[in-house]
Amino acid sequence: MSESCARVLKQTFGYTSFREGQLEAIEALFNGNDCLVLMPTGGGKSLCFQVPAIVFNGLTLVVSPLISLMQDQVQQLRLQGVKAAYLNSSLAAEDAAQVNQDLQNNDLDILYVAPERLLQSYFLNSIKHLNIALIAIDEAHCVSQWGHDFRKEYRRLGELKQSFPTTPFIALTATADDATQADIAHQLNLKTPFVFRGGFDRPNIRYNQLAKYKGSDQVVEFIKQQRGNSGIVYCNSRAKVDELSQKLSKSGISNGAYHAGKDTTERARVQNLFLNDDMQVVVATVAFGMGINKSNVRFVVHHDVPRSVEAFYQETGRAGRDGMPAEALLLYDERDAAKIKKWIADGSTPDRFEIEMHKFEAMQSFSEAQTCRRQILLNYFGDSRLEPCGNCDICQFPPKMFDGTIVAQKVLSCIYRLRGETSAQHVIDVLRGKNVRKIFDLKHNELSTYGIGKDESDQYWHNVIQQLIHKGLIRIDMTLSGILRLNESARSALRGECKVSLAVPKFKVSSAKKNK
Ligand code: ADP
Ligand code: ZN
Repeated sequence: MSESCARVLKQTFGYTSFREGQLEAIEALFNGNDCLVLMPTGGGKSLCFQVPAIVFNGLTLVVSPLISLMQDQVQQLRLQGVKAAYLNSSLAAEDAAQVNQDLQNNDLDILYVAPERLLQSYFLNSIKHLNIALIAIDEAHCVSQWGHDFRKEYRRLGELKQSFPTTPFIALTATADDATQADIAHQLNLKTPFVFRGGFDRPNIRYNQLAKYKGSDQVVEFIKQQRGNSGIVYCNSRAKVDELSQKLSKSGISNGAYHAGKDTTERARVQNLFLNDDMQVVVATVAFGMGINKSNVRFVVHHDVPRSVEAFYQETGRAGRDGMPAEALLLYDERDAAKIKKWIADGSTPDRFEIEMHKFEAMQSFSEAQTCRRQILLNYFGDSRLEPCGNCDICQFPPKMFDGTIVAQKVLSCIYRLRGETSAQHVIDVLRGKNVRKIFDLKHNELSTYGIGKDESDQYWHNVIQQLIHKGLIRIDMTLSGILRLNESARSALRGECKVSLAVPKFKVSSAKKNK
């Protein structure tokens, strides 16, 4: 068996050896076991079912939620001489009829099918009598409520096990914490599956975080440091994507905007230019990237904090797939975090609320952490590391702490005296003693805190405010469009009963140290 697999690997795919986990999974399937494969994006999950599809006698069904990915993989497999096809809503009726005919004639090795199609009873009935050697569920985290990308149409895939009780199943995903992993096996009715968990580390990606202040300027500056290399910038809204894309254009950075509000032609245009290295940057919502296989993406920027660690990992994972050094930059702003919490509270059903909040809070603590970012990331996926990585901003440029008691008191007393009119920018304007209309209208120039912070920049104070929020001394009240409020613990800091230790604010991504 392993010899035929090695031959197929060589002849069909042109590779000389299996990666860790691939052959183990295939052998387990060959022995009739179910499998659960957890490997990072780019880890080589597809071969775990593509090789058996060729080696095993009979048909391999692949369930995938991603139409573009199906098309890509089928096209690729056909070029390699594999009898492959797909069935989904994008297919014309006569093409679908042809696929069905090939299916009935046992003339296919591998069929990709969208879950809703597979589960239609007429379709299930039409394949029941076929020799189905293997069923693969790709992007299997979609089956779990615990996953970050739960999809309704995946819900019923558990029924498949009843229809095909003797066929081995393989479930594959790039992102699974322990709860999701257990839930996938449970939802799909996998029978004591062989579990392979690949290392989640992407050592060539350097993780960086900056407090967001005038995010679009920070993005422009960061991209200018990247010497023309390709990258992706993610934003949380379509409007932001369009705005930032224009800003990059004005700064002379070749880029395209990509989100679900653009028509198909425009999206294809941007994607192709990017894939062919004719466009440096794609500014996008999360709609961009799934199934896009570009190996030389050198950086991924999150202009807005994503909703989960899984999403962050998956999106940053699109950088550096060729193994060469790559950068991930997260711009973090407490106000974004508060906004997302409000979206989650307003937008999710009761059964999703806790899960989504829990996932976002994990992302939030990753963003606020002052210890090795890779350690936090890998620990989240149960791939624990004892040593700091040496290739993240915290490891390379450890935060320098200083006694920030007086600095903190300036901010806290300013918020206290403003009593309600306290957007972060207004606090900063008062601290710096600016000549802005609103201050004079409200007579805030008469406060004792007016101008006590004029020696530092806006960005400095913004950063300090963020740190005070992280420390729990102040909070953002989203019910009143994001004003700042003092917490109970601010009192003792104001009275000088406790010291406040702060990190020296950092505004730029420092370039990697050569010899670490
Ligand atoms: P995933 O689905 O886990 O994101 P893919 O299956 O798309 O990853 O594989 C990522 C890349 O690695 C592909 O270009 C694939 O051809 C390549 N690859 C997979 N397995 C091997 C192997 N054993 N040897 C060499 N390259 C491989
Ligand atoms: Zn580190």
